[in-house]
Amino acid sequence: MKKIAILGSTGSIGTSALEVIEKYPGLFRVTALAASRNHGLLLEQIKKFRPEIVALHDSGSASLLRGRTDVPVYEGREGLDKVASYPGADFVISSIVGFAGLRPTLAAIRAGKDIGLANKEVLVTAGDIVMAEARRHGVRMLPIDSEHSAIFQCLEGRGRESVKNIVLTASGGPFKGKTRKELETVNAGDALRHPNWQMGRKITVDSATLMNKGLEVIEAHHLFSAGQEHIKVLIHPQSIIHSMVEFIDGSLLAQLSVPDMKAPIAYALSYPQRLDEVIPRLDLVKTGSLSFQEPDMETFPCLAYAYEALVEGGTVPAVLNASNEIAVDAFLNGRIGFNDIPVIIKKAMESHKKQELRDENTVLEADALARRSALRLVEDMAKKPIKER
Ligand code: MG
Repeated sequence: MKKIAILGSTGSIGTSALEVIEKYPGLFRVTALAASRNHGLLLEQIKKFRPEIVALHDSGSASLLRGRTDVPVYEGREGLDKVASYPGADFVISSIVGFAGLRPTLAAIRAGKDIGLANKEVLVTAGDIVMAEARRHGVRMLPIDSEHSAIFQCLEGRGRESVKNIVLTASGGPFKGKTRKELETVNAGDALRHPNWQMGRKITVDSATLMNKGLEVIEAHHLFSAGQEHIKVLIHPQSIIHSMVEFIDGSLLAQLSVPDMKAPIAYALSYPQRLDEVIPRLDLVKTGSLSFQEPDMETFPCLAYAYEALVEGGTVPAVLNASNEIAVDAFLNGRIGFNDIPVIIKKAMESHKKQELRDENTVLEADALARRSALRLVEDMAKKPIKER
């Protein structure tokens, strides 16, 4: 019986992970849960899964929950760390959204837990530190991002020397094929209508700007020790092939399934075994044809910025990520337009003085500075009419 802790249990990945766990009661038991502030849903999860401890990042929400359960409720950053390093768990699903996931993920690694990693920002901002800690503590990093799970499955048991390229597939998001002009008038509601995947709000907007794929390029670099020149992106609108590996002999291996996050979640949980009937079977005849295109990095420059940040290294990917989080939030709140997102990221990257990554404090400082600088850019931009931006 594998004992599981989930960081981000009330989010999209967290709730899907609990659905998987519920379906295989003989294999997994939930011992610790952490969320940001959704105390109502966490209470339902406590009743159903009977964890031994829980945590809420927001102290007000933690107080509300305490009156309604006997399970110990921890709060704040320390609370998240407590769940991350809980001795009664041997596997931690890291699915807190954004940069906030970094500290608790490091806490889990340092406590020797195997990690199911759904938070890509952890590797984007501090990949060298995180992977070095994982090696030092002998923990396994199992990707839950569907693309990286696909690559992990294609690579299994094969020597790295035989790999030529990693090919990340991207749906292209809801705005594929649109011009910059057309993108001037799209709003958050349009961006949140993803054609294939049901996901959280932040990642859905990232998918529309192609930043999600950019973050995944950096994530792939760290997970699979691949240079940026060997990580390719291919638009594949059907989202049936989740990614591919191209080998030196000219062979390509791909992983296919219906688009459902339960598949990579279950594989990370059960690795190296496979579970029975996790997701519906893929009917290739009904699916029909699969198509592929080059990504349009001029209309969607965020992908190009991510490659630049990876080449630059040091604190630059952290700045890319922080300014993106601020810009996406401002876009979701209707303060800036869709095309303003890459402008803010570019300016934040240009004004940043790069440092080498010494430890996680370097990352935390770069992140905080970049957030402030991106917030100022948002303020300036929100005052101007769209034409003058
Ligand atoms: Mg993905």
